[in-house]
Amino acid sequence: MTLRLYDTMARGKRPFVPANPERVTMYVCGPTVYNYAHIGNARPVVVFDLLFRVLRHLYGEAHVLYAANVTDVDDKINAKAADEGVAIDVITNRYLDIYHADMARLGALPPSFEPRATQTMDAIIGVIGRLIRSNAAYEAEGHVLFDTQAFSDYGKLSGRTLEDMIAGARVEVAPYKRHPADFVLWKPSKPGEPAWESPFGSGRPGWHVECTAMIEEALGLPIDIHGGGHDLIFPHHENEIAQGVCANHAGYAAYWVHNGFLNMGVDKMSKSLGNVELVHDLVAKWPGEALRYALLASHYRQPLAWGEDVASQAKRALDTLYGALDRARDVEAANAPPSDALLEALYDDLNTPRAMAELFSLARQLDAASDADRPAIKGALLASGALAGFLTADPQAWFHGAADPALTARIDALIAERIAARSAKNWPRADEIRAELTALDVEVMDSADGATWRLKERA
Ligand code: AMP
Ligand code: ZN
Repeated sequence: MTLRLYDTMARGKRPFVPANPERVTMYVCGPTVYNYAHIGNARPVVVFDLLFRVLRHLYGEAHVLYAANVTDVDDKINAKAADEGVAIDVITNRYLDIYHADMARLGALPPSFEPRATQTMDAIIGVIGRLIRSNAAYEAEGHVLFDTQAFSDYGKLSGRTLEDMIAGARVEVAPYKRHPADFVLWKPSKPGEPAWESPFGSGRPGWHVECTAMIEEALGLPIDIHGGGHDLIFPHHENEIAQGVCANHAGYAAYWVHNGFLNMGVDKMSKSLGNVELVHDLVAKWPGEALRYALLASHYRQPLAWGEDVASQAKRALDTLYGALDRARDVEAANAPPSDALLEALYDDLNTPRAMAELFSLARQLDAASDADRPAIKGALLASGALAGFLTADPQAWFHGAADPALTARIDALIAERIAARSAKNWPRADEIRAELTALDVEVMDSADGATWRLKERA
């Protein structure tokens, strides 16, 4: 079984062959930290977390290096800091902490490296200096610009030509640009904005060159996989390749992997459109694992139409899987690898809909199996789920998930009292308690050895 990935550059699936299987490298463009992340921002995080897990399974945990950057230099960060009258790192640290907590709730493993633009200034300045020396960049009116005509492959990733870009260019193109597609590597800061000293004057880097320098420093170039949302193909990734190759990193990235958009109706979910649902709010309403499931239930390259029903379907799907595990709670799971069908699905360009169908198939088999077969099937279900970041909770804890400890204690006490009332044949009291539990949205499942409970889905 080989992993195959859809490579945007090749416009097709290719077998994944790392340059060095002992040191597999992946970089994904991360968030700009000035606000809460929305569930669209979480899509690449969860998709590339899954790819990270698959790579670790294939090559071993110690042999996969994953860097996801943090953009902490940005106009929107400056604006927010000015608004609150604080330094930019007060803003970026606040939202980065929230981001870490929210993404952990979605089961995303911490990346191996999380470079930050403000901590990579020397490398950024180094890349720009090399580009100037190799005549791929020029200085004009206090700016340093990348000369797109210096790179003959410019436009190859996105399928555009420089001629198209002239035709599409608007009148507001800065007059000091040699070509409308030329982009900023360094620019002067406005008065009062953060600035860094450089041989090209005091100022700040452009966004594209930050990523190239962060990859160079965190992982070394070229890398195996470069990822991000579909919206980053042009101009961001196109520009990264141009700079990287001209700064002496032939190849730059061997595979370009892009996730599709998460949409609200016909529009992409985005802060600028104001149609966002924040992860921070969603994790208060839904188990993080259900949100992870919701993000992975569609194939990562397809658009994902978001809505409350997507989260509730995901919650029900996990109820089914945890239900089977709960019914098998007395079965000791065998130490088993993930199932071949699950691996085949994930190795086929992360075919998560097929991988999830396999989890359901294993859950059905677990219910139907003879006692002799159940340990192996339970082991395979747990290992298959865990590979994709699912089913690691205790099934009882899953069903009690939304209840806080005080509520859990109260429910447990009511259930114990109800059992006592029933065995004393005090039916009115037993009925009263059942009504009380119903009012708390608790569903009680009576069984031979007592009763279990779960909170009903909240609409
Ligand atoms: P941003 O903070 O806007 O720079 O975005 C961070 C990451 O989220 C990038 O990889 C974007 O491509 C991705 N992203 C932003 N909005 C969406 C969306 N609606 N659907 C999927 N990915 C998105
Ligand atoms: Zn980037």
